[in-house]
Amino acid sequence: MPKNVVIVGAGVGGMCAGALLAKNGYSVTVCDKLDTVGGRTRTQTVGGYGVPRGAVSFQLNGILPAICKEVGATFDLRPVSEMWFWIKGGGEFAQLPAKSGIGKMIEMFLKVHGGADGVKAMAQVGLQLSIAKIGAAFKDPNAMVTGDGGPTFRQWIEQYTDNKDLIALFHTITSAVSAVNDFEYPASHWFAHFAAADARMDKYALVPGGFVAVSRALGKVIESHGGKVLLNTPTLKIDTANGKATGVTVQVDGQSKTIPADIVISNAGPTQTLALTGEAAFDKAYVEKLRSRIRPTPIVASFVVSDEPLFEPRSAILAAGLKRIVTAVPLTNICPEWAPDGKHLMSFYATPKSCLQPLDKDDEIKANTEDIHDIFPDFEKKGGRILDIQLRDITDADVVARSWPGYNMPVQTSVPNLFNVGDACGPAGFIATPAAAMSARLAADHILSNFKN
Ligand SMILES: Cc1cc2nc3c(=O)[nH]c(=O)nc-3n(C[C@H](O)[C@H](O)[C@H](O)COP(=O)(O)OP(=O)(O)OC[C@H]3O[C@@H](n4cnc5c(N)ncnc54)[C@H](O)[C@@H]3O)c2cc1C
Repeated sequence: MPKNVVIVGAGVGGMCAGALLAKNGYSVTVCDKLDTVGGRTRTQTVGGYGVPRGAVSFQLNGILPAICKEVGATFDLRPVSEMWFWIKGGGEFAQLPAKSGIGKMIEMFLKVHGGADGVKAMAQVGLQLSIAKIGAAFKDPNAMVTGDGGPTFRQWIEQYTDNKDLIALFHTITSAVSAVNDFEYPASHWFAHFAAADARMDKYALVPGGFVAVSRALGKVIESHGGKVLLNTPTLKIDTANGKATGVTVQVDGQSKTIPADIVISNAGPTQTLALTGEAAFDKAYVEKLRSRIRPTPIVASFVVSDEPLFEPRSAILAAGLKRIVTAVPLTNICPEWAPDGKHLMSFYATPKSCLQPLDKDDEIKANTEDIHDIFPDFEKKGGRILDIQLRDITDADVVARSWPGYNMPVQTSVPNLFNVGDACGPAGFIATPAAAMSARLAADHILSNFKN
């Protein structure tokens, strides 16, 4: 008899785990409380526009496409061909080279570095010196910080420069990749994260059907192997007895129903897994580790519509020196079908004032609105208006990451047949959907070796 696996949550992590296990002969049931698969990758319709609730960029190389290939999940992709850089005061956009590491970013920064000409020439000398010092520090193992605690990345970089534009550049790089402010992110985790191969800025695509199409395709794989994907089915409880998970209690048509299982995988995030199971089921040490580690990451996502495109290339933008915004994507330059005919949609992503404190919502809306006008001063002339500003506080279900990079929990819990998958459970260096996919790979591999059919 194949082993029964119940998966709580149809996000990327849950669907990847489900597809890998279904393909390997396990009997898989995925339950999600929402009316769609995809979790934070789902699309909402706002005023006739297809607005992504979360993930937009699909990393073309790496674990998620590898799993999709392995299980036979197919969907359309449209590559994002280039990336552009903008710095406040520089007055222009500059295209980044295809293979863009931090060194290339600094080169680009020098080209578009702002300031009045006389001042600029003077400043360039100091700047070159700072860049040389930072370059040397990056190569010097003694300058690196390891272990928990220690200085933030901002404190670390301020040892080598006080140039505010260069500091703004590193703030943008940190926020764009990890979604955490450099002045809050420990330098030790910054280095660990940026050293991991998968953390590098890489090749991306947009999914024309919305990122949710990835989970839909994985759902088809699960169903083609006899598995089930049950929507509108919240899990009320993860059931345990004698130190093991025995299944889940879900709600169907207002009634509680038990689904027995040999293995339970939760994609609801480690904190919710704890709440659904009850603390008493876990080792004290596991609970303490979870409580001290998990740091949900907030984000502000603004969606802007216009009559003329605000930006022409099919590319993402990295922006430095703004109050909050660090990246933007002219979505309809790549996927015009996400807007009504002749209209344009662009998304802007910002790291709030603090990733540790609750959001000051009015302040965030004001700062993000000012940033949009700063980067596109002709915004109104092009018929631009803000469609939606989504404030994802640290307590929101749809945070950008359930934990900061470096603060992840392992997929295994102290209950031997209960696993966590999702973006808080990838190995060091992995973030976002690649972290969710990698956690699924780790959980599935463990189950294939230790819970054989
Ligand atoms: C604004 C924004 C922009 C982003 N941009 C990108 C990007 O460009 N590229 C990228 O790779 N990533 C991006 N991300 C991150 C990405 O969306 C997430 O990392 C990823 O979707 C998380 O997947 P997950 O497996 O952790 O599951 P989640 O998406 O968190 O899914 C969990 C599922 O569990 C379900 N669930 C929870 N509790 C229960 C319960 N009790 N019963 C039943 N079901 C339950 C939920 O309904 C949900 O469907 C972005 C996120 C945000 C918010």
